[in-house]
Amino acid sequence: MKKNKQVFNNVLELVGNTPLIKLNKITSSLKGNYFAKIESFNPGHSSKDRIALYIIEEAERKGILKPGDTIIETTSGNTGFSIAMVSVIKGYKCILAVSSKSSADKIDMLKTMGAQVYVCPAHVSADDPRSYYEVAKRLHRETEGSVYINQYFNELNIDAHYHTTGPEIWNQTEGKITHLVACSGTGGTISGIAKYLKEQNKDVQVIGVDAYGSVIKKYHETHEFDEKEIYPYRIEGLGKNLIPTATDFDIIDQFIKVTDEESAHTAREIAKTEGLFVGYTSGAAMQALKQLNEEGTFNENSNVVVVFPDHGSRYMSKIYSDSWMNEQGFFDSQHEQEETAQSI
Ligand code: PMP
Repeated sequence: MKKNKQVFNNVLELVGNTPLIKLNKITSSLKGNYFAKIESFNPGHSSKDRIALYIIEEAERKGILKPGDTIIETTSGNTGFSIAMVSVIKGYKCILAVSSKSSADKIDMLKTMGAQVYVCPAHVSADDPRSYYEVAKRLHRETEGSVYINQYFNELNIDAHYHTTGPEIWNQTEGKITHLVACSGTGGTISGIAKYLKEQNKDVQVIGVDAYGSVIKKYHETHEFDEKEIYPYRIEGLGKNLIPTATDFDIIDQFIKVTDEESAHTAREIAKTEGLFVGYTSGAAMQALKQLNEEGTFNENSNVVVVFPDHGSRYMSKIYSDSWMNEQGFFDSQHEQEETAQSI
């Protein structure tokens, strides 16, 4: 996992050690200093490279994975891409059950990387036999010599970030980080980083970003699973309709919810202000920073690290398409004016 050499033996040697980049313009009216952990610099263009490599190598170490075996996973796209990439290099077959909410681009990319893809309906409950969880479990039962990664219920997901992303952020900020803000899907990213950071300094504040339509924030506050919280939303990879055991709720101080619309506009704003072309959940995380600032969470001495999980190229047919934005009704009068002004 070194990036200071000129020639690499294979693409997997480039996983991790992503840059931390100071945010300047988009944060100019916010109190404190802001730094983004740019996970699109991983070779598979997302933070999921870390967990794919870590979990597969742990399975190899334990003798669970043998040459020629099959790796199975449920995924909104990024984890699948990373597992497919690792499988290509290490010689495993890869089967992925994905949600129909995933963009067509993501599904095509998985196939390009040699994965066998099953597209499953998005808006059914997790225990429905058609859900991507149940389809993956069935395929695992039916496929001899298969390993099910199960990122939502695999504590190695937390360990991957505890051993890599957490120490990287601590070292890059020279221990001066005061707040971590990260999206929560499986919860592996935020939980693993938080565990490492809080071991170094228990005062680091950890704030998770959740979606309207997801149960995570409410569960954190009440320890109850409230079905009424669940309804369809557009952001892929943020929040959940179940409680993942890869989320360590005790280590997270607070969750904040963001909307599909504001997150989409904020992702577009990141590109125009910071020159960073990032994914939908990066927009969500940045939107959370704005809301937290308004709530008075930060002061002049705050050193805030926000995780930007993936690359914008995966959302060309969604948030970076004007017609998609229009179809969602996301160009309200204020935003429409801004966009029109820019295109003149
Ligand atoms: N952003 C994107 C684009 C994702 O795919 C995911 C994972 N589902 C996340 C953020 C959240 O990361 P984690 O699963 O580690 O909580």
